[in-house]
Amino acid sequence: MGRYSYSQPSDSSHYGGDQADSGYSETEELIGRDQAELELKYPEPSQYPMQYPPQPEVEFGFPQVCYCGDAPILVTSKNDPGRRVYTCKNVDDGDCHVWKFWDVAVMEEMRARDKHILQLEEKVDNLTLMSNFESEEKVVRLENLVSDLAKKSFTLKIEFEVCVGVMLFVLVVLGLVIGGK
Ligand SMILES: [Zn+2]
Repeated sequence: MGRYSYSQPSDSSHYGGDQADSGYSETEELIGRDQAELELKYPEPSQYPMQYPPQPEVEFGFPQVCYCGDAPILVTSKNDPGRRVYTCKNVDDGDCHVWKFWDVAVMEEMRARDKHILQLEEKVDNLTLMSNFESEEKVVRLENLVSDLAKKSFTLKIEFEVCVGVMLFVLVVLGLVIGGK
């Protein structure tokens, strides 16, 4: 990975030199702060920020990008002419580059897709179950609501009748009182 070894300080000073003087020291300060943070996160900087970590898309299925950042190319394998293989046009520069049989990548993709479809099916089943359960729950809630309303209106009716009875009683008593005079 010599080609992509860490070379930010020289790059950034060059970059900063091209810029106007204002903001230059701020940039430096920000870079310094970032580096301090990185060193906190990775106590052994010699292991981490110096190299690009292998990218997951290179590891799994059809390689989308090589470790070097270039697009992978598909060629016929030299040792195994029946097979196609993903490699990189920079493969001779001595760095680490993608190398993967095409059929291996196809199998990985297909297995992943199968798994994905199974998961989707499971989700659909769960959703159907849930919506069934939910609609049942809603019906039960509606029934409860209706019966509550019925009870309330029954109570209201009784209250109304009691109220009318009391008023009638008061009227009768008033009539008796007035009539007695
Ligand atoms: Zn490469």
